[in-house]
Amino acid sequence: QDVISKISAGEVIQRPSNALKEMIENSLDAGSTIVTITVKEGGMKLLQIQDNGSGIRLEDLEIVCERFTTSKLTKFEDLRKIQSFGFRGEALSSISHISHLKLQTKTADSACGYRACYVDGRLSPANPSDSAQPKPCASVNGTTITVEDLFFNIPSRKKIMKNTQEEHTRVVNLIKKYAINNSSISLILKKHGETTPEVHTPGGLSPRDVITLIYGADVGKELKEISIVSERFEFDMTGYFSSTNYNCKKTMFILFVNNRLVESKSLKTGLEQIYSKYLPKGTHPFIFIRLLVHPRNIDVNIHPTKSEVKILHEDSIIGLIQKKVEEELSVSLT
Ligand code: ADP
Ligand code: MG
Repeated sequence: QDVISKISAGEVIQRPSNALKEMIENSLDAGSTIVTITVKEGGMKLLQIQDNGSGIRLEDLEIVCERFTTSKLTKFEDLRKIQSFGFRGEALSSISHISHLKLQTKTADSACGYRACYVDGRLSPANPSDSAQPKPCASVNGTTITVEDLFFNIPSRKKIMKNTQEEHTRVVNLIKKYAINNSSISLILKKHGETTPEVHTPGGLSPRDVITLIYGADVGKELKEISIVSERFEFDMTGYFSSTNYNCKKTMFILFVNNRLVESKSLKTGLEQIYSKYLPKGTHPFIFIRLLVHPRNIDVNIHPTKSEVKILHEDSIIGLIQKKVEEELSVSLT
């Protein structure tokens, strides 16, 4: 049983950045306005995420790491209604099977906070002589989750992740993208032991401000903002599109659908096709798209690691975005 849980956990969480993505989304779902992430060795040794969100109630601590338990849906039909894709109740459970997971949390209406450790989905004592029950502690409101020694019990996976620099880069890139999409809140990423953060957004900005902060004023200032609202295809898009080449080896294509970072090969190639008519060969655009679609039009049953998203009316949506982008480009580049 536990071997099976471990294997499926390793499928849900394939690298530190997958775990971090799930945990950031939990912090965002909890309404946090400041989220601070600390990593060590690309997240393999340590992944810590501290937020000032709603916190977790004492009575829920028993089950937060249990598989398929979630505070975010009560009935199966809700799957079709919820906005976030973070619905499965699989993330924390999976992480607890393949790491040492502990958390500290406090809700606003509780006098104190609580600490808890988890092993294989269940509360577990911090020391062999302790009980597994959460322990009261002094705490600010919010949640801090600490994940240590990811894949400690999956040697083959650990071996693949030997290049912690590469994992670190993935973590940094992930945080940058979430920072753009969540420009109104403060996101901070630090390497453990270092004082200067690698990413630090102050909150209260627009996506363009964050792009400028992270990718530089050259990229930020010449971006065209494009919005489309379509009642017919039930979507609402805001995007930032470079009108010159983005100085990089490949297209920077960042897509959030209903606030989850996803991939869409068809949308990306569809836009590259338009750009190729206007940009010099070998140069590449910067594209950030925030797409809100009716939840019933998304295939929510895709596996968490399959970041490719399926949307109803996809071709029509892509067509409309292509048309709008081309209008802009033909004005500014010819
Ligand atoms: P899901 O997000 O699909 O519900 P997770 O395994 O990601 O499942 O999280 C399980 C539950 O733990 C969530 O439903 C939520 O109640 C709680 N939780 C996790 N992280 C946080 C957090 N940072 N703040 C508040 N609650 C959290
Ligand atoms: Mg979640």
